[in-house]
Amino acid sequence: MSNTVELTTPSLVRQVSSIKKKQAAFFASGKTRDIEFRKEMLLKLKNVIEKYETTLLEAVYKDLKKEPFEAYGVEIGIVIADIELTVKKLRSWMKPERVGTSMFHFIGSSYIYPEPYGQTLIIGPWNYPIQLIFQPLIGAMAAGNTAVVKPSEISEHSSALVSKILRETFPEDYIAVVEGGIEPTQALLEEKWDYLFFTGSVTVGKIVYQAAAKHLTPVTLELGGKSPCIIDKDANLDYGMKRLVWGKFINCGQTCVAPDYLLVHVSQKKQVIEKIIEAIEAFYGKTPQDHPKYGRIINHRNTERLSKMIVPEQIVYGGKVDIADKYIAPTLLDIPSGSYESAPAMQEEIFGPILPIVTYETIEEVIAFVNQQQKALALYIFSNNQENIQKVLRNTSFGGGCVNDAVMHLGNSNLPFGGVGESGIGRYHGKFSFDTFSHHKGVLHKSMLVDMPIRYPYLNIPVSYLKRIMKITM
Ligand code: NAD
Repeated sequence: MSNTVELTTPSLVRQVSSIKKKQAAFFASGKTRDIEFRKEMLLKLKNVIEKYETTLLEAVYKDLKKEPFEAYGVEIGIVIADIELTVKKLRSWMKPERVGTSMFHFIGSSYIYPEPYGQTLIIGPWNYPIQLIFQPLIGAMAAGNTAVVKPSEISEHSSALVSKILRETFPEDYIAVVEGGIEPTQALLEEKWDYLFFTGSVTVGKIVYQAAAKHLTPVTLELGGKSPCIIDKDANLDYGMKRLVWGKFINCGQTCVAPDYLLVHVSQKKQVIEKIIEAIEAFYGKTPQDHPKYGRIINHRNTERLSKMIVPEQIVYGGKVDIADKYIAPTLLDIPSGSYESAPAMQEEIFGPILPIVTYETIEEVIAFVNQQQKALALYIFSNNQENIQKVLRNTSFGGGCVNDAVMHLGNSNLPFGGVGESGIGRYHGKFSFDTFSHHKGVLHKSMLVDMPIRYPYLNIPVSYLKRIMKITM
């Protein structure tokens, strides 16, 4: 971030540095280390989200035309469930974990102590503007940190409300909010944080990682990319394509783990297209633009970006674009074999309601194709063939995913959620969030009753004896 100094105004720098100082003092007071304080604050967060439920739903509707049923599930319900789980389990998560100790350390015992990193920074995106601020924040608070939150300026209504809620609920020396776009983010990134949690694009993720590297700050980067969805020869299409259509078109395709493109067994192509169209029309009718459950693209810029991916000759279904209304119809594109390398929809993460279809003949071909791409945030396979499912799971690398479903894995807080390679670094949700925001301190406790002399040089102990002792764990 070489140009940060020129871009960042002195008042922003002062604002950030003042918050930073206040939070340092608050963290040093030790208050956040207390379990009762953490639980009380988490419940306070839950209560205020419940209090503002209707207004929050209105705000995401204004930003994304996200209808209330969908919005409650993905923006509020998931957050409330995470808070409840965290409050219930926090005591056991915070407990030092006893682990084995080799006989070599006799008499000794070993423990892993989770401790808060300290001052954390959370930067959010616009597509799930409530969930993706509050869910990392739960982890930061549960682990006993202070936090500064930077919502996305693009989802303006939701971000303004999230900021207002946090400001009126927590003192700034514990949880603070900085609003705005690139400039305030740069001012924040100039500071040294103890942990940095970023959700957003790969491009900005790299900027954030560089800024963190300057201070050796550990990071979680929740990024995106193209997530493939495989539809095998003998997949159950009746259930399968409904689940796929739900996962693809929820939030108008603007979901980081949405199936980005389909890899369909050539024998299934016709039926897959029919079933997808059937599900789209069952969910959103024949004119989705008028349907109350079909969302909109976040802004005109992104609507235009998406419209360029729709090549008229490739349209199998949909294709309608209304830039003024930020509307893109659910669209299926048939990508002729051999031309996916040049197809506009196959060049970058789609992040919209456009679904390209590529065909394949063998599962080995699919595995080779997936392995040629950047490692995906998610991978889905619809199949009844256990051998093929296992082959794909064992031979490809991706952040997480589903067999015979799409997107739903992130609703299970017992599963870690995060990317690998280009799709991100780190993981969270449930206990994984607590672990992400904690440093795990390993400590050997030694008794003073005896002093095993084996390690001391004067005894001339044979190596064979040392080998035996080191193998015994207490
Ligand atoms: P983005 O990277 O443009 O913005 C994310 C945040 O970074 C925003 O708060 C923004 O203000 C800030 N930002 C933007 N440009 C910046 C710059 N030059 N310097 C510093 N900060 C900057 O991402 P987005 O458009 O908000 O979100 C879409 C992307 O996020 C998609 O790629 C999607 O896949 C990904 N995403 C990932 C997850 C996940 O959990 N892995 C979830 C949601 C979205």
